[in-house]
Amino acid sequence: MSVRVRFAPSPTGFMHVGNARTALFNYLFARHHGGDFVLRIEDTDTERHSEEAVKVIYEALRWMGLDWDEGPDKGGPYGPYRQSERLDIYREFIEKLKEKGLVYECYCTQQELDQMRKEQLERGEPPRYTGKCRHLTEEEKARLRAEGRKPVLRFKVPEDRVIRFKDLVKGEIEINSRQLGGDFVIVRSNGMPVYNFVVVVDDALMKITHVIRGEDHISNTPKQILLYEALGFETPQFAHLPMILGPDRSKLSKRHGSTSVKEFREKGYLPEAFTNFLALLGWYPKDGKEILSLEELIERFDIKDVNSAPAVFDTTKLNWMNQVYIRSYPIDKLTELVIPYLEKAGFDLSAFDRKWLERVVEVSREYFTVLSDAPHYMEVFLKDDFEVEEDAKGFISENPDRLRVIELFYGKLKAFEGELTEEAFKKLVKEVGKELGVKGKNLFMPIRIGLTGKMSGVELPVLAELLGKERVLRRLENSLSKLRG
Ligand code: GLU
Repeated sequence: MSVRVRFAPSPTGFMHVGNARTALFNYLFARHHGGDFVLRIEDTDTERHSEEAVKVIYEALRWMGLDWDEGPDKGGPYGPYRQSERLDIYREFIEKLKEKGLVYECYCTQQELDQMRKEQLERGEPPRYTGKCRHLTEEEKARLRAEGRKPVLRFKVPEDRVIRFKDLVKGEIEINSRQLGGDFVIVRSNGMPVYNFVVVVDDALMKITHVIRGEDHISNTPKQILLYEALGFETPQFAHLPMILGPDRSKLSKRHGSTSVKEFREKGYLPEAFTNFLALLGWYPKDGKEILSLEELIERFDIKDVNSAPAVFDTTKLNWMNQVYIRSYPIDKLTELVIPYLEKAGFDLSAFDRKWLERVVEVSREYFTVLSDAPHYMEVFLKDDFEVEEDAKGFISENPDRLRVIELFYGKLKAFEGELTEEAFKKLVKEVGKELGVKGKNLFMPIRIGLTGKMSGVELPVLAELLGKERVLRRLENSLSKLRG
């Protein structure tokens, strides 16, 4: 039987890294086995979900390079793929459970349930629904309705049943039905069916073979297994992925910094690096290779190798990976991605030609950790009317020879004919040194200050060649006016 898995996010308006990892593992599993990857939007739990929130999910998945085979936008043989469009289907299966006598109306108010819970806790018992409404007569129900109460529908949990399943990550799991907290709600008083019920109907009808999801859902699984049985469906296999922790080993949350895919994207992590990093959260390839393309991940991914212990989100490692990817990224693609960061930082790029910009990215990228670092490291190539920093001014004023270095270099460059290559630049600097009898820091630092206004930065010959004679002259004039002033 061919593998079918699904990613079933609720459109909350953002995609948490945990969800992104779940999507990725489902995708890798599907592609590794040549199966289908289904996207299902779980939007019954909340009021109307905006299209915007669904778009956030599409964008995150597309950015990560995870394409799905069936989904709300693509259709497929088991649609619709949005739960809000499947309410008639759920109704049909609720009827089935009613016919079988496996559900009943419960009229308890929240207050009554809280009271029940409080008394149980006082008696030292685990809280559970007592089944109080299991045997209401029609007259009793009518009376409760007349009071204005609206019923929920509860599923009758069998007494003393051992529920067993073999989780592909966690191993054998066994739980007694008594531990499930009593008969659970499957339809709310507003008529909306709840997650545990709809997920079973959908996974069964969509012929999902493997349910791969976060460990936070493991406590739902026994309830879902009971529903599979009650509805006469075959139970899929389950794999619950380990929790993701922050560096302090508490559950990854906003406290630890960015947690949404959009934030990582905006900071300038490359999708390939981000996806590669997420793949190693709880899984590790047998051959130990860490830098892996999506194709290589698909080839190696084996759900059996997923660790059951929690994974730690290590930003240092993510940064390292991003650097590795940045350094080997096709330069045209990298430039394309860098441009928006430069524009956002206020650089007018219209004067620069694309090939030139690519060369600047090429010599700057080794300094980037994330793409949002680009404006900082590229500024030196883009901005000619810079300020001379205070420490640089101080350095020049300490020794009159230092200003003379800039002046003489300016004069020589002005008279220089030809292209200002790295070699030509070095030659001119050398001549200045010889003529003035200065060398080392006293020679190179003034030139650096003349060209950039700063005491440190990129290799000067590289900078000079990329700027060309005219722009270097303009810069020297700019610095000289500020230093003399
Ligand atoms: N909508 C659920 C979530 O986003 C799906 C859980 C599941 O995969 O069963 O957590």
